[in-house]
Amino acid sequence: MLSDVQLIGTTGSRPGAMGFLTDTTLCIGCKACEVACKQWNQLPMDNFGWTGHSYDHTGDLGATTWRHVAFIERLDGADGQRVDVMPPFQSHWLMMSDVCKHCVRAGCLEACPTGAIIRTEFDTVVIQQEICNGCGYCVPACPFGVPELSLFDGKAHKCTLCYDRVTAGLEPACAKACPTDSIQFGPVEHLLERARQRVADLHARGVTSAYIYGDRAVGGTHGIDGLNALFILTAEPEVYNLPAAPELPQDKVGRAFLSTLGAALALGVAAVAALRRL
Ligand code: SF4
Ligand code: SF4
Repeated sequence: MLSDVQLIGTTGSRPGAMGFLTDTTLCIGCKACEVACKQWNQLPMDNFGWTGHSYDHTGDLGATTWRHVAFIERLDGADGQRVDVMPPFQSHWLMMSDVCKHCVRAGCLEACPTGAIIRTEFDTVVIQQEICNGCGYCVPACPFGVPELSLFDGKAHKCTLCYDRVTAGLEPACAKACPTDSIQFGPVEHLLERARQRVADLHARGVTSAYIYGDRAVGGTHGIDGLNALFILTAEPEVYNLPAAPELPQDKVGRAFLSTLGAALALGVAAVAALRRL
């Protein structure tokens, strides 16, 4: 285990960390990444119908959807209508290919009681299927709602950042398939530098709302340090169903214990005071 002293850059990633940069301003919603992920990882299809919420049919990340392209319709005008002015890069639809963030401090890994979830030599987070016992502890421990227990085998599943491909010197299937380079793969240090340049370029071209999600220097990663899967967003994190300040549930245990202790003390004092009056 590498120590915090060795953490690099403002993502807090370890040296040699590999990750994703998903630039939502380049996404055209073709879902090639979703399909390539399913094909390479031999995942079955999910919902093949309409959700009724958008043109997106898979709906969310899950045990058999490790990349999910969200279609978000923006109705920012008066009375919830579309605004007249067409914003640059993406129109009134925001598209964003979501994925496991391979967190620098991963809640799923900390919660797993069997050691099934490991940090690899690429600083990515992988669930070892032969060790997972399906207890599901990792599911609520992830602040992004990524892992899910499969209905097929009862075990937890999520993106492996194509560990098998990366080990063989290949890029992950989603990044390979993306026709617009909305998904880029590489050393996190390089991706962060590229993201900063891209955000500066977007600002110069009038998209002043662009920012990096996952860089702790910019906020948005709260108590979990940075992410090895960075995103360039143009709206608030919640618009993309991402938490603005993700927090690990285990970090709340101390606070919950203190508040319970405080309540117990207050009750005790009240009880003693009541007894004295008798
Ligand atoms: S996003 Fe969730 S599943 Fe992925 S590494 Fe972070 S805590 Fe684990
Ligand atoms: S392949 Fe690229 S452009 Fe197509 S949906 Fe995925 S991220 Fe968007």
